[in-house]
Amino acid sequence: MKCPFCRRGTFEVTDTRTNNGGFPIRRRRRCSRCGRRVWSVETMEENPLHVIKKDQSREPFDRSKILRGLEKACYKRPVSQEQLEQLVGQVEEEVYRQYEREVPSRVIGELVMKYLRELDQVAYVRFASVYREFKDVSEFVEEVQPMLGRKR
Ligand SMILES: [Zn+2]
Repeated sequence: MKCPFCRRGTFEVTDTRTNNGGFPIRRRRRCSRCGRRVWSVETMEENPLHVIKKDQSREPFDRSKILRGLEKACYKRPVSQEQLEQLVGQVEEEVYRQYEREVPSRVIGELVMKYLRELDQVAYVRFASVYREFKDVSEFVEEVQPMLGRKR
């Protein structure tokens, strides 16, 4: 983003604040040349974060996708929907704080595992074993859905 004041410098992000991990996102930017500071506000519609998948294709960041993967991993585990929503919120917040436009799917997977491990060991192992093989959350969801939907 080019600085409108000196017209030469570019704005660098110095601080990012989310609304409980979601939109709107406010970013503090500082011009690299004249040092002027601005806040920018981003909404989901105008600035969707994209996930870079392992095959280098991109898709919009989708929290419901992560949630579905978690629900499958937590099948019959003592984990509430509320806890899962909270976990996704934590992941979202961290992702938006560190990445501006694109985030590798690997990063999301690692974050999910980090928080899931604290929440439920069994769910963590389920998620990790499938995820590590697929290395991609969306692939994971598609692959695991039919398996877990089956009645025992
Ligand atoms: Zn400037």
